[in-house]
Amino acid sequence: MSGVGTTDGVSMANGERRYLAFDIGGTKIASGVVSLPSVDSLAQPVVADVEMIPTLADRGGDDVRERLVEFAVRRIERCAHDGVDIVGVGIGSAGVVDSSSGVILSATDLMPGWAGQHITAAVGEATGLPVHMVGDVGAHGIGEALYGAGRGYPIMLSVGVGTGIGGAVVDHGRLITGAHGVAGHVGHMPHGLGTGMRCSCGTTSGHIEPVASGTGIADLFESRRPDDVAPAANAAAIARRAAAGERYAVEILTMSARALGECLAGMGNLIDPAAIVLSGSVVNAGEVWWRALREGFADGALPLLRSTPLLRGRLGGDAPLIGAAAAFAAYSDICHA
Ligand SMILES: [Zn+2]
Repeated sequence: MSGVGTTDGVSMANGERRYLAFDIGGTKIASGVVSLPSVDSLAQPVVADVEMIPTLADRGGDDVRERLVEFAVRRIERCAHDGVDIVGVGIGSAGVVDSSSGVILSATDLMPGWAGQHITAAVGEATGLPVHMVGDVGAHGIGEALYGAGRGYPIMLSVGVGTGIGGAVVDHGRLITGAHGVAGHVGHMPHGLGTGMRCSCGTTSGHIEPVASGTGIADLFESRRPDDVAPAANAAAIARRAAAGERYAVEILTMSARALGECLAGMGNLIDPAAIVLSGSVVNAGEVWWRALREGFADGALPLLRSTPLLRGRLGGDAPLIGAAAAFAAYSDICHA
């Protein structure tokens, strides 16, 4: 960070630019200074000076926005004090985001009053810097596409399989957001295995999330569990029991991963991605899960797509901040082209 002359946030030495990034979630707001090398270089982004504040979402959207703005101002002042030039502010936020207006379009009950918040304008006015906001799942996808496992693949489907299931389609560094900002909602792909199971969107008609997310695997396990099989605390426990060869655990994990693979094949047939990158806690579920996922994908994918690589994400916990910065960079490059 030090010892390199900078002009307008551009490192004189290697063309790196520095961005202030925010990842706004239901429980915490993380911020970091992200140095992005040129996408063409093999250099890795660097996330420095990470700091977090609690979201305190139950205080309401106005309160969260006001504290976010205070946080951003404090962070910018500190960068100025440390001599770190910042090009702009990238934000990845929970909820459905309208990037063009910088407004949160909708949010779940976990963030009451978050919908309708004019985040980009508020942070921009307070910091005097250009700001660009995308959804948090989209930010993760852009991070993996440009600097993680999706590097070198021009069109990528990013899928996060954790407590829920999210996704993003990234085309040459740009997020495909759709007409309503909801493109990429992998978790709400229809699948018969989910019929009768309540999805986070409210439907019981059969979505993949309630049987293939981490909580979904546990619910599926419990919903069909024979009396002579012990209950499981969570998906990680089921994965451990499957790895140890327990028949019912293998059966459930296989059924769940195969169904997700079939849904990914359906999405693959629609968008023809060069790679599908999977992140989130469930990708650690082991070989039983991965094998069934690949089999489900191969069964459903058109012949030309069967060899599409299904890859594990590489950026880990840094992906949302790197992605928020990269989304800003891609947006400003487009605007300034
Ligand atoms: Zn759903």
